[in-house]
Amino acid sequence: MTISCQAAMESAKPLEPFNYEPKDLGPKDIEIAITHCGVCHTDVHLIDNDWGISSYPLVPGHEIVGTIAALGSEVTHLEAGQRVGVGGQAGACCECEQCEKGQDIFCGSSIYTAVHDFGGFATAIHVDSRFAFPIPESMASEIAAPLLCAGITTFVPLRKYVNSTSKVGVIGVGGLGHVALQYANAFGCEVTAFSTSPDKSDEAIALGAHHFVNSKDPAQMEAVAGKLDFILSTVSADLEWGPYLGALAPNGTICVVGVGETITIPAVPLIFGQKTITSSLIGNRSDFKEMLAFSAMHNIAPRVEVVPMSQAADAINQVRTARLGHRIVLENK
Ligand SMILES: [Zn+2]
Ligand SMILES: [Zn+2]
Repeated sequence: MTISCQAAMESAKPLEPFNYEPKDLGPKDIEIAITHCGVCHTDVHLIDNDWGISSYPLVPGHEIVGTIAALGSEVTHLEAGQRVGVGGQAGACCECEQCEKGQDIFCGSSIYTAVHDFGGFATAIHVDSRFAFPIPESMASEIAAPLLCAGITTFVPLRKYVNSTSKVGVIGVGGLGHVALQYANAFGCEVTAFSTSPDKSDEAIALGAHHFVNSKDPAQMEAVAGKLDFILSTVSADLEWGPYLGALAPNGTICVVGVGETITIPAVPLIFGQKTITSSLIGNRSDFKEMLAFSAMHNIAPRVEVVPMSQAADAINQVRTARLGHRIVLENK
């Protein structure tokens, strides 16, 4: 079979049509006929080789949803025609110490989608069946696709650090932040959205925030000083961290999931408030299953714009140049 894709043939080049012959299905692999694939800012980083891990031709796409077209001889937990999703990890050894601890994300043999193999801007993909997750019946495929990245990235740290009495801040109301606000609300928290765009206030409240803070306004930042137990930073810009440390209550935690260049932390407020800066990287296989079930139960729905797969190059340009408050999802018709 031939898989038709949209690929960057060199670093930072526009996507163009590209075909490849996949390797034969291994016994644990499945072939997915892709119906939808979300577009993420990470795709831009990979196309541009910003992290020095890209190889070309590079087929982006790590928010993959489709139906199972073929199964390897040892795959018994999935069936042909079933709807499944694949996120940023498409394989691991499943035998090493990290895998055995359920921390397969840290497996030294991890296969990152679109990095170690071709990604989901394509008609099909072959992946390890253990990294393909059934999509809940009630969840539309275009909603499931961004949840496999924006969803898992924000769900995992919130589940780990907050409970229903937590006062939670979310920095950014963009591609990640607009999903994080929904989760924080669904976890029963009192939610504060931080944004540099005051015009995002109504949207943030509609998504589940109880309060909105214009982070460019020192008086508004001062008004939340010492109030929050946990802050999730979803923006990819470098931030001035002092005011956010100030917004934390003693023993509070800031978790960074947006990828900036550097994190510069003032030491005194960190130490005197005994505060924590941490991070979170997508999620393990068990996390994906929990995230999908929780999202279906609580109707977590990323805002999406669905466009044909043939418009992938244009979609990448939009994600590259605009600060979108929603996710673009490519669709194979
Ligand atoms: Zn992503
Ligand atoms: Zn492993």
